[in-house]
Amino acid sequence: MMRCVILDCYTDEPAGLGVPPYLGTYPRYVAGAILDGNQEAKVTYVTIDQVRDNTKRQLEYMNEEADLVVFIGGSHTPGRYLRTRPATPREISKIASRIETPKILGGPIVAGHSQVGGVENSITEDLFDVFEVVSFGDVERAVYDYVNGKESKRNYSRRTYEEVDRWAVLGSFVVKEHPCYPFIVCEIETSRGCPRALSGGCSFCIEPRRYGLPEFRSEIGIAKEIASLYQRGCKYFRLGRQSDIIIYGSEDARKKEVPTPNPEMIERLFLRIWREAPGIEVLHVDNANPAVIARRPESRKVIEALVRYCTPGNVLAFGLETSDPEVAERNNLLTTGEDVLKALRIVNEIGQRKGWNGMPMLLPGINFVLGLKGETPERYFRDLEFLKKIIKEGYLVRRINVREVAVLKGTAMQEVGNLFVKKHSNLINYFKKKVREEIDPVLLRRITPKGTILREVFTEVVRNNWTFGRQFGSYPLTVKVPGRLEVGKFIDVLVMGNGSRSVIGIPYPIRLSEADPRQIEMLPGMNRRKAVKLLSKRPRNEEELMRLVDRKLLPFLELS
Ligand code: SF4
Repeated sequence: MMRCVILDCYTDEPAGLGVPPYLGTYPRYVAGAILDGNQEAKVTYVTIDQVRDNTKRQLEYMNEEADLVVFIGGSHTPGRYLRTRPATPREISKIASRIETPKILGGPIVAGHSQVGGVENSITEDLFDVFEVVSFGDVERAVYDYVNGKESKRNYSRRTYEEVDRWAVLGSFVVKEHPCYPFIVCEIETSRGCPRALSGGCSFCIEPRRYGLPEFRSEIGIAKEIASLYQRGCKYFRLGRQSDIIIYGSEDARKKEVPTPNPEMIERLFLRIWREAPGIEVLHVDNANPAVIARRPESRKVIEALVRYCTPGNVLAFGLETSDPEVAERNNLLTTGEDVLKALRIVNEIGQRKGWNGMPMLLPGINFVLGLKGETPERYFRDLEFLKKIIKEGYLVRRINVREVAVLKGTAMQEVGNLFVKKHSNLINYFKKKVREEIDPVLLRRITPKGTILREVFTEVVRNNWTFGRQFGSYPLTVKVPGRLEVGKFIDVLVMGNGSRSVIGIPYPIRLSEADPRQIEMLPGMNRRKAVKLLSKRPRNEEELMRLVDRKLLPFLELS
């Protein structure tokens, strides 16, 4: 019997996230490809965190028992992670060089890796030398070839959507081996490629260069994959593997850079998903092209459908990159500041209503990329003015994502590398600081003002006597609660304030038997002295409690 190990070193790309609690598409497809090639194979899924925690035992298994180890990794859009971090090429190389068993390397890492934005992303041949097979096409396809006896050091083959539909279902069992199961968000693919391939695409983006014009996966294939994950206990899904969800099923996506959306296809897709998996708790999306929303009236119906079929807290991430028209032209960017303002207006009109979990149904997010080709210092001031306009006009924006460009192999950014990141490093820091201090907090306060109740916040880590949690979904808000709460539980949180990227809140209600005095002192009329006194008195019933606090606070406190 063939024994295969899939080592998930985590992936982070503009169109696809696979860092816990998100589980990317790659490991599931690879598992399915192995079983499709060899029904008798035994497939084990392991995360890089499990290897970090118990390197000796994991390597022993890979060396002594396994016949094949598949490494999946690579980060092109490094973010701030709450629980963990993707493995670096160095870490991958170090682990791989200690494994004698044949190894395959695949995932975004073959095109480069960026742990910190603005750093050039060359991957040296030394990394590839450690592996028997390196997949420059689709790793699942390379694994399928290997299992079927077709070995080549460099594999460029690609899979079809027919294969994806089959492998995704066959490989869905790996979710149960994920250390975070069942609290994982399954990333789902709806398409790949980008209509902007018609003109070469944005200077920094790998999508059109790797995948060309869009190809859409059938709604049946997508729904069947979700059904099989759902039957295995998954309830959180993000349709995040695509360049633009608004154009799913568009008939002219291969002919026009700003294609016409197909609302009927979106309806069909979501209806089918709900029919197959009626108990889904989170269904979100990710990237959307604001130029399509602004310039194609059919988009309204698509956005209405997203509000109707998806769960609250959903986000459409808009890639603006810069509002400076000259820099946009030099980098072949299509979207203008005007497009974004119009798209914000449309999405806010349709999506700002609050849902059951305390978050608006659907909000936009905006991405900026810094250090672009030929940019001038003025761009930073223009972009700040643009953001101030958003504030002034009262829009709701879930988050502003600012990152230094990742210079990926094969993109037009390679002409200049990180020249402008270095040249404008002071301006970049200035811009980030301004956004963090003057833009983010205002936007966050608009969405979750003091007094908002956020339902089902999942507690994830405890650091420095604070508990950090998030709701499940696309770009969930980080919630900080004073004190050490049990990790891995759902709590409701009453928002008491906010920083630039996170809100500060207290459990709602506060359980006196396990409360931290810092939680109680945040309640109106309370202070540290009163909080400590309340906890030391240990009231046993409501009467005793009423003698210690104002009766208006009773709804916020629980005795047990
Ligand atoms: S619109 Fe630009 S950034 Fe987005 S996928 Fe297409 S080429 Fe890439």
